Amino acid sequence: MIKKSFNWILLLVMVLMLSGCRDQNQRAAKEIEELIAIQEAAVRGKNLESYMDTITLQNDTYRAEKKSWMRDILLNDIEDYHLRVKSIRMINAKEAKVEIQQDYSYNGGRYQVQYPLRIVQESQQWRDGDLFFERLDTENFHIQYFSPSQNYAVMIAAVCEEARENIVKRYGDDLIDQTIIKIYQDRELLRQSVKLSFQWQFAGWYEYPESIKTTEFRDEETYRMIIEHELLHKLTIQESNNNLPYWFSEGLAVFFSNMPNEPASRYTKEEYLENYGEDVRTIKALETINLETLAEEREISNYYDSAGMIVKFMVERFGLEKVKEIIKMLGQYPYQEGTGAEINQRAIIRFREVLSKVLGITVEQLDQAWQENLRI
Ligand SMILES: [Zn+2]
Repeated sequence: MIKKSFNWILLLVMVLMLSGCRDQNQRAAKEIEELIAIQEAAVRGKNLESYMDTITLQNDTYRAEKKSWMRDILLNDIEDYHLRVKSIRMINAKEAKVEIQQDYSYNGGRYQVQYPLRIVQESQQWRDGDLFFERLDTENFHIQYFSPSQNYAVMIAAVCEEARENIVKRYGDDLIDQTIIKIYQDRELLRQSVKLSFQWQFAGWYEYPESIKTTEFRDEETYRMIIEHELLHKLTIQESNNNLPYWFSEGLAVFFSNMPNEPASRYTKEEYLENYGEDVRTIKALETINLETLAEEREISNYYDSAGMIVKFMVERFGLEKVKEIIKMLGQYPYQEGTGAEINQRAIIRFREVLSKVLGITVEQLDQAWQENLRI
């Protein structure tokens, strides 16, 4: 009899615990739904402060990424933005995996993407803790990926340290901190994670002081080249205190990463003129083109190739040390917060000031020398 009543009590305790747990989960689910509703309202109302209050306080890189992402929303007419919670799975009392569907309209197009978010509880408040990535670490890199992309994370782990060594050796200065690399299986999710207004899907992305972002590629060599390009951005943007004109930043990345990785014949003057003829770009033209709104493949590659060829010309005419001195001297200006496109106008002005100090010529004179060199 005593034994039996003991079992009843145990059962009662278990039922109470389970229902307590269920109540707790239901409350968490309701609060998470509210958090997502606040995010949606903040985007629709272009409220940066309210949006940033939904983002984890524990991850500076992610906060920088979301701030850039939100600044793009403030500047562009993103319409009919919707977030829908598709499912919530509690991992533990302070962490949940939440499937979200995001919809919006921009420039006459309607876009949709679905993604898993990690929602975390920090001092009684639920916050967006970035996408639900797994993690693989090497000496200098934290590689983040969704579990179906594990093979790709392993490929990146195999080449990222070599990519870093190559960049440090070619450029001659060290990279000072650890680098996060995020792998997005879905290129549309990659694009939407960077900027909703961006007009084309890309293979790699880096903005200071954010993570390097990429997608799934077949082989390690492709990853090594992409990581070299993005690491070169990181190194030069850091040295210049985020004061590089957009075209110069891309030109440096092409010169120090793409050119050494491709046959020398690919970047000769003859090949360049053969490819673009009358359309070869001047510095002046590159200063006004917005790479991010170009739609045609040839226009995009013309931008990269022209920028790279101009940096190559500068190195051949004035020497590597002078080109590096330009970057260092740009680093003496105050730090600019913002993405490459946002800081471009002021960076162009600073570049002009620095060029005359370091090389003793104006941008117009450099432009003319570059054009003359093409015709010799
Ligand atoms: Zn680039």
